[in-house]
Amino acid sequence: MKLLLLEDDDLLAESLVESLKDSGYRVDLATSLKAAEAFMATEAYELAILDLGLPDGSGLDLLKRWRQSGQGLPVLILTARDTWEDKVVGLEGGADDYLTKPFHEAELIARIKALLRRKSGRLSRDLTLGSVSLDEANQCVRMAEGPWHPLTGTEFVLLRYFMHHPGRVLSKEHLLNQLYALSQDAAAPNLIEVYIARLRRYLGKSSIQTRRGQGYVFVAD
Ligand code: CA
Repeated sequence: MKLLLLEDDDLLAESLVESLKDSGYRVDLATSLKAAEAFMATEAYELAILDLGLPDGSGLDLLKRWRQSGQGLPVLILTARDTWEDKVVGLEGGADDYLTKPFHEAELIARIKALLRRKSGRLSRDLTLGSVSLDEANQCVRMAEGPWHPLTGTEFVLLRYFMHHPGRVLSKEHLLNQLYALSQDAAAPNLIEVYIARLRRYLGKSSIQTRRGQGYVFVAD
């Protein structure tokens, strides 16, 4: 699942990217409004985290432009400002949530998960589709009421992506793009086959179906 982080403070950005990666998110880091707009023009994100004070302007102006153009991506604003007026301006500008610096990274992760849950219309902590349940906090999966199986980081990221996009045919290239950051060397597409085979050991063959020549589709049964 890809997130866009717009933050020009190097130390904070580096630390946030690490925490978000540890939680299984793929992160593209932009340090200016211009860079963020370039990423948005070419990539599809599930959520954006925006700092307000950037070298080439305010994250709020970017957010207002997105909302005016109908961009409904969930947005969490990070800022050093903590007056209630700033919060009102941020929320009225179209932000979905707001976090004042300094903050605990665990709180940021919890808020991101809550926003993504809200986006997919879920209220409970576990993501359940058909007989498959994914525990996003503990990165475990189970079938029906069976035992929980722990997943590796990559298995978890891949399965979570499938479960957030059920019924959609996802190509190997699209899935690889979810797993690896733009800056990393592209992995071989057959790596996806390896991970799909591993997930099918837990899920059986019918949950992730192969569409020959097109990719894979998660089917909730
Ligand atoms: Ca800043």
